[in-house]
Amino acid sequence: MSKIALVTGGSRGIGAAISKALQQAGYTVAANYAGNDDAARAFTEETGIKTYKWSVADYEACAEGIAKVEADLGPIDVLVNNAGITRDAPFHKMTPQQWKEVIDTNLTGIFNMTHPLWPGMRERKYGRIVNISSINGQKGQFGQANYSAAKAGDLGFTKALAQEGARANITVNAICPGYIATEMVMAVPEKVRESIIGQIPVGRLGEPEEIARTVVFLASEEAGFITGSTISANGGQYFA
Ligand code: NDP
Repeated sequence: MSKIALVTGGSRGIGAAISKALQQAGYTVAANYAGNDDAARAFTEETGIKTYKWSVADYEACAEGIAKVEADLGPIDVLVNNAGITRDAPFHKMTPQQWKEVIDTNLTGIFNMTHPLWPGMRERKYGRIVNISSINGQKGQFGQANYSAAKAGDLGFTKALAQEGARANITVNAICPGYIATEMVMAVPEKVRESIIGQIPVGRLGEPEEIARTVVFLASEEAGFITGSTISANGGQYFA
């Protein structure tokens, strides 16, 4: 029987690449998303991967969503906490709403998703949790006090939970992508993109598939001795 993987924000961008790579590696994959029904429909048509709509910012919705996925597919072995948003503003202009939305989705969302799954993983004595953080959680970023705080929080969560899961054969790791060629990054003006690329030692943006392959490795049974780790995937832009 193939293992079951759930990817949040799994129907677009980096998450879609992760879902597809896990599928290729033999997992039965469920992809959660927040609201973009058209993208989710197109993704399912292309891949055959089932999509499930709920917000990771809502604890009850997560518990219900996870129960639905498990009823459809079976117990979840691999959770990839990938869903994320930005609400950028220099701090003096940042609103409480911008702060709250980013913390609720990028940090509390990881709690909301992991907490309902945790008892089952502990009971079955197996689990792989991969949290997608960011280079900006490691080094901080102008205009992203909210996002940098949330993504740094994800790393603390990863290290704490790795200790709690270790005896139950549950690994918890984080990946910190640098600039990846997703729609969001490709939409910035070419001049800005060039200046971003100028700061990346390898001289190019990362590809979503490069993050996806790292997830597949961390999700594998063979990676059982790696837990509480942060893998930077940023083309040499920052060494944590
Ligand atoms: P996208 O904006 O392309 O996709 C985000 C995905 O997350 C979408 O599927 C979206 O759903 C989903 N999502 C957003 N909010 C929620 C929510 N509340 N509940 C459930 N799903 C939600 O993002 P990227 O692919 O660029 O980023 C993926 C992850 O990687 C994020 O955590 C991001 O912070 C991180 N990252 C990205 C980098 C980059 O260069 N792109 C660099 C470093 C880190 P829907 O389709 O319904 O909108």
